[in-house]
Amino acid sequence: MNSSNGVDYLIIGGGIAGVTAAETIREHDKSGSIAIVSMEPHLLYSRVLLPSYLKQRIKREQVFMRRIADFDKSDIGFLAGEEVTAVGARGHEVTLSSGTIVRCRKLLVAAGGRVAPVTYEGARGLQEIYRLQTIEDADRLYPALPNIKEAVVVGGGFIALEFLEILQLRGIRTTLLCRDEHFGARLMSKAGSQMIEGNFEEHGIRILMGEDVASVLGQDGYLRGVVTARGKELRADGLFVGVGLLRNIEFLQGFGISLGKKGILADAYLRTNVSDVFVAGDIAEFEDVALGMTHTVGNWNNAFLQGKAVGRTMAGKDTQFINLPSYSISNLGFHWTVVGNPDLSLPSVIREQRTPPQYLEFFLRDGLLMGAVIINLPRAQSVLQRWILERRNLSGKEGLLADIKVALETIV
Ligand SMILES: Cc1cc2nc3c(=O)[nH]c(=O)nc-3n(C[C@H](O)[C@H](O)[C@H](O)COP(=O)(O)OP(=O)(O)OC[C@H]3O[C@@H](n4cnc5c(N)ncnc54)[C@H](O)[C@@H]3O)c2cc1C
Repeated sequence: MNSSNGVDYLIIGGGIAGVTAAETIREHDKSGSIAIVSMEPHLLYSRVLLPSYLKQRIKREQVFMRRIADFDKSDIGFLAGEEVTAVGARGHEVTLSSGTIVRCRKLLVAAGGRVAPVTYEGARGLQEIYRLQTIEDADRLYPALPNIKEAVVVGGGFIALEFLEILQLRGIRTTLLCRDEHFGARLMSKAGSQMIEGNFEEHGIRILMGEDVASVLGQDGYLRGVVTARGKELRADGLFVGVGLLRNIEFLQGFGISLGKKGILADAYLRTNVSDVFVAGDIAEFEDVALGMTHTVGNWNNAFLQGKAVGRTMAGKDTQFINLPSYSISNLGFHWTVVGNPDLSLPSVIREQRTPPQYLEFFLRDGLLMGAVIINLPRAQSVLQRWILERRNLSGKEGLLADIKVALETIV
């Protein structure tokens, strides 16, 4: 920040989207002043690697991705531990929690998300309730793991999956509570979930579907268990909450920026409705050219690539963001990939095999593939990505898609 508290480029958020954008701006504008303001008291680290740290596959220091010397070298100012509390002057002025006002020529909002506070009855003050979003969450859990004997995990998505494997590797008895009727219900049909749930059971995980925590039981200030929505009492000395993600948008109220259903609305260049104000990463509800829809995407690669695209645009080299979203995870011996938009309101075709377990669900609109969920068939990903991007016509091919003996490459 210069002496008059004004910069050419101001970036809110020091995650992968914000940092990549700042570094990309610097590649294209050697002299403009750039500053990143980030609420967390750290330089960039990988949230993706937090589970690996907890699984003892990597050391804590391997989670961190930048040193201050990297920012000094690129002449990028980094204000860690500072929160932006308000934005004014049509995006040309931000107020920090310290009271400082910073003016800017161009503003990027790359503020990502955070977990919602845990509000279960009886939960207040109990230390043995864990989340997994920040390095602090991981640091709190790491030393506690060796002492946990019995865990309850809540959730039906990727964070719940990570918790399950972290606990499994430590031999901790685990019960999973999932509100949905079947696990991964927002991504796939029941047949796929049954395969996943079967795998959980083979790993000794007890599953209670259509269930949730109603209240938390404590004794002498320690967690003793939970009572479920259906009235079951479960003993637990660790409660792992993998639900409730919020986007960081509250501080943006009142300067005219358009919000969507989940994030900040943007066009395919990641420009908002306010001129000189841009958005990138988990918080962007953007026009997705690859899929022909407007939505948010919460994954690392998307945030990184949006940081690259928006950095170029902000530096004057207008760049449309085009990328087909995909997300992969290896968990309890299964390998999952989600490609495109697995929209459960669309008709789908399933190919599956029980032994060894393999599953592929194709989501189709008017014969075009819109998205897919792939389990234990990693080589399918590149084929399906090609089908989506090249808009291959799959009308009338449903029988071939469903037949696991037919090689995908031969279908269209
Ligand atoms: C445990 C975990 C595992 C994951 N695993 C995977 C995976 O395997 N694969 C994958 O693709 N994705 C994974 N993800 C998702 C991925 O990490 C995110 O999509 C990615 O980090 C988003 O980056 P971002 O820069 O948009 O936002 P964030 O990483 O959320 O960064 C935003 C930053 O902005 C700061 N900020 C917010 N508001 C303000 C404010 N008002 N003032 C100042 N600063 C502010 C925040 O503190 C934060 O530092 C995982 C996420 C988690 C939590």
